[in-house]
Amino acid sequence: MDSCLRSTDLPVPVLTAATLPIAGLTVRFPVRRIYCVGRNYVEHIREMKEGDERDPPFFFQKPSDAVVEDGATIAYPADTDDFQFEIELVVALGAGGRNFSRGDALEAVFGYAVGIDLTRRDHQRDMRSKMLPWERGKSFDASAPCGAIHCVSEVGHPSRGGITLDVNGRERQRGDLAQMIWNVPEIIANLSASYRLSPGDLIMTGTPAGVGQLSPGDHVSGAVEGVGGIAITIGAREA
Ligand code: MN
Repeated sequence: MDSCLRSTDLPVPVLTAATLPIAGLTVRFPVRRIYCVGRNYVEHIREMKEGDERDPPFFFQKPSDAVVEDGATIAYPADTDDFQFEIELVVALGAGGRNFSRGDALEAVFGYAVGIDLTRRDHQRDMRSKMLPWERGKSFDASAPCGAIHCVSEVGHPSRGGITLDVNGRERQRGDLAQMIWNVPEIIANLSASYRLSPGDLIMTGTPAGVGQLSPGDHVSGAVEGVGGIAITIGAREA
C-alpha cells in the first residue's frame, strides 16, 4: 500500500448520503441514521412469543445505505431461508437534540413515511436465542425500503389510522397506529435519552401483527392511512 502513503487524495471516495424523495418537492431528504423500535404492537409481541408487553421500548439500527425507494426490486437475500416483511410508520427528523420531553418531541419531526423493516427472521431468532446482537437478522443490504416522506404541513402528526401490508394483492398485515404501545413523542423522548438525534434521522416505529415470509417474485405494497404508501418487488435470490 505504498501508494497510500504518497497520495494526497483520500484513499476512498467521500461517500454521499442516501436520500429519499419528499412528496411534492424536488429536493430530497438526506438520511443519516435509521433507528428501529423493536416491539411496539401488543399483537406482534404475542405472535413472536417474546418479551413482556410492558417492557420499555428498545432500539436497533439499520445502516443508512440500506434505504430503498418506492418501486424498487429487492433481491431475495442469499443469507436467509426466512425473509420476512414488517410494515411500519417511519418518522423523519428535521431537527436534532438530546433528552426531548414528550411535550417537545414532535417539534423535531419533519415528516412521515411508510417503510418495511425487512428481516432475516431465521438469523434474528438465532441471534436472540444466543443473546447476540441482531445485525445479521435486521441490518443488511436493502433492508429498509421507505416510501416518499410527507411533510408535517401535509399530513400532520398521525396518531391513529390503518397500517396495512398486502402481498400479491392479499392483505397480510392490518393494524392501527393507535395500537402502538409507545407513541411517536414517547419514542423520540426515549431514544433521545440514549442518542443525540440529528436532522436526517429516520425512526421505524414497529410493526403490527401478521408478519410473514416473502418469496422471489412477490409484489409487496404497504400503506398508512393519511400518510402514504410503498410498493416493492422481491427479485431472484442473490447468488
Ligand atoms: Mn420492525
